[in-house]
Amino acid sequence: TAHNEELMMQQEELERMLAETEQMKNRLLEVDQLKSELVSTVSHELRTPLAGILGFTELMLNRSLNQEKQKKYLTTIHQEAVRLTNLINDFLDLQRMESGAFACSFEKVDPAPLIEPIIETISQTTNRHHFQLIDQRSKKWLSGDQERLIQVFTNLIGNAVKFSPQGGQVAVYVTNNEKNMLIKIKDEGLGIPAAEIPHVFKKFHRIDNSDRRKIGGTGLGLAVCKEIAEAHGGTITVSSEYGEGSVFSVLLPLWEEKETTVNGERSDE
Ligand code: ADP
Repeated sequence: TAHNEELMMQQEELERMLAETEQMKNRLLEVDQLKSELVSTVSHELRTPLAGILGFTELMLNRSLNQEKQKKYLTTIHQEAVRLTNLINDFLDLQRMESGAFACSFEKVDPAPLIEPIIETISQTTNRHHFQLIDQRSKKWLSGDQERLIQVFTNLIGNAVKFSPQGGQVAVYVTNNEKNMLIKIKDEGLGIPAAEIPHVFKKFHRIDNSDRRKIGGTGLGLAVCKEIAEAHGGTITVSSEYGEGSVFSVLLPLWEEKETTVNGERSDE
C-alpha cells in the first residue's frame, strides 16, 4: 500500500545515505593516510640535505681549511642546497597542480639545445655513466613551456642516473612523427618490476625493493613529469625490464606554423 511504499523509499534513502557516509569515511581515511605519508617523507627528505649543509658549514666555521678543502665542502653544501630547492619546487608544483593553478605558456622549442645542457650538468655528477643524445628528428620544433620541459628532462635523466647505481649508458633519443615529438630516455639500470609500472607516476609512490631502498627520493618527480606532459597535451609512458633497464617516453605536440601571411609572406618563418 501507499504507506508501505513510503517506508520502502525511506529505507532506500537511508541505505543510500549510509553508503555515502561510508564512502566519505574511506576517502577521509585515504586523505589522512596521504597526509601522514607526506609529513614523514617531507621531514625525512628535508632533514637529509639540511644535515649535510649544517655538518659542512660547522666544519668550515670551526677549522681553518686550505682552499682545496674549502672548495670541496662548498661544492657539497651547494649540491645539497640545490637538492632542497628542487624538492621544495616539486612540492609547490604539486600544490599548484592540485588547485588547478598550474599554467604552461607555449612557445617554439627546439628540444636538442634544451636537453644538451641538462645532460652536461648531470654528467658532472657521475663518472660511472656514459651519455648520448641521438637526434633523429625531421621536424625541429615542438610546442612547449621551456622551463617546465627542463624540469621534465632533468627529472627523467636524473632518475636514469639515480636508478642505475652500477652505471652504464644513458641515451636520449629525439624522433618525431607527423604530429608529435618523441623523446625517449633509456638507461641500463635497476628497471621497474612489471607490477609497479601502473603506479610509478602516482604521487608519493616509491618502489620499496631492496635494490633501491637506500636511494633517496620523494616519489614526486614522475607525478610532476606526468602532470607537465599532460598540460602540454602530451603523454609520458614507461617500458622496463626488471634488472635490465627502463625507457621513459615523452610525447609532445609539434609546433604548428600558423600560415598567416603578412604582405604576402609567411610571418612565422
Ligand atoms: P623518486 O625518484 O623521488 O623516488 P619518482 O617519482 O621520480 O620518485 O620515481 C618513482 C619511483 O619509480 C622511484 O622511487 C623508482 O623506484 C622508480 N623509478 C623512476 N625512474 C626509474 C628508472 N629510470 N629506473 C628504475 N626505476 C625508476
